[in-house]
Amino acid sequence: ARQFFVGGNFKMNPASRDAKRKLVDALNQATLDPSVEVVIAPPSLYLLPVAELVRNNVKVAAQNCYVKLSGAFTGEISPAQLADAGIPYVILGHSERRTIFHESSELVAEKTRVALDNGLSVILCVGETLQEREANRTAEVVQEQLKPVVKLLKDADWAKVVIAYEPVWAIGTGKVATSAQAQQAHADIRAFLAQSVSPAVAESTRIIYGGSVTAANCRELATQPDVDGFLVGGASLKPEFVDIVNARQ
Ligand code: 13P
Repeated sequence: ARQFFVGGNFKMNPASRDAKRKLVDALNQATLDPSVEVVIAPPSLYLLPVAELVRNNVKVAAQNCYVKLSGAFTGEISPAQLADAGIPYVILGHSERRTIFHESSELVAEKTRVALDNGLSVILCVGETLQEREANRTAEVVQEQLKPVVKLLKDADWAKVVIAYEPVWAIGTGKVATSAQAQQAHADIRAFLAQSVSPAVAESTRIIYGGSVTAANCRELATQPDVDGFLVGGASLKPEFVDIVNARQ
């Protein structure tokens, strides 16, 4: 069975160290389903203090890293530096990185490979725009995003990869995918992994949903057989994050 996974992507929030500490304090005092893998991704400036402050059963993730290990790349963080600092996870290919920062699927695939080679686990994000969904191109678009990854991860340890299906139209909009839409997209991703990697990898890889997940909608989504958890944006900054972690209880 795949371990349920709930990630909190803080994005460029909160606005102060004090607010960051309050978020961590609240999480430390909460009752969390012990069977769930919980990972929070604060801004890079806060990674180390959060890793130190947060309870042992909550891991931390960087929100991005570069494709090189060191050198003249002003403003970037190396996957080797993350690993050396004891940061276990990195989010790669988030739609905000793809859109605002022009990251291609090829670059995201290369970053994934380098991150894995340096001992990090990867939360790899994919997802279609509204226009692409309305043109019935969801499965095709997601496969195009995954193809370069599959190509570079032939001999990689897929146990260290979590795929986050995040439809762009659902991110930060309050328009959550229906559980049927999420289930279909996740099943399509799993079928693609079965055919392009292996049936065993398809069966064991966690595929989580992201996009306007809240305490109110997480339970129904969590009943879907191919929804193995969530990547939560806005609600990860609120007390309801705990309810999302406990969605299957
Ligand atoms: P929201 O939960 O704010 O829609 O963001 C989702 C997301 O982008 C998580 O990575």
